[in-house]
Amino acid sequence: MVAIDDEKCIGCAQCTQGCPAQILGMVGAKAEVTGDAAECMGCQSCVMTCPVEAITVTEY
Ligand code: SF4
Ligand code: SF4
Repeated sequence: MVAIDDEKCIGCAQCTQGCPAQILGMVGAKAEVTGDAAECMGCQSCVMTCPVEAITVTEY
């Protein structure tokens, strides 16, 4: 599961560009899981890309 903390997100959109499953998108000035969270591959690319550590990916 991927979760984004809106309070921490600064809206840089970098995570949305790097997601191979294309499930992250911008809603207003914040990133959100706009696709099917079940398609998350757990690659951690978004976690590593985010400059403010707003994203957490937990294995399931
Ligand atoms: S862990 Fe990978 S597949 Fe899952 S949301 Fe992040 S970038 Fe996308
Ligand atoms: S990389 Fe982090 S700060 Fe940038 S849009 Fe994504 S969640 Fe927000």
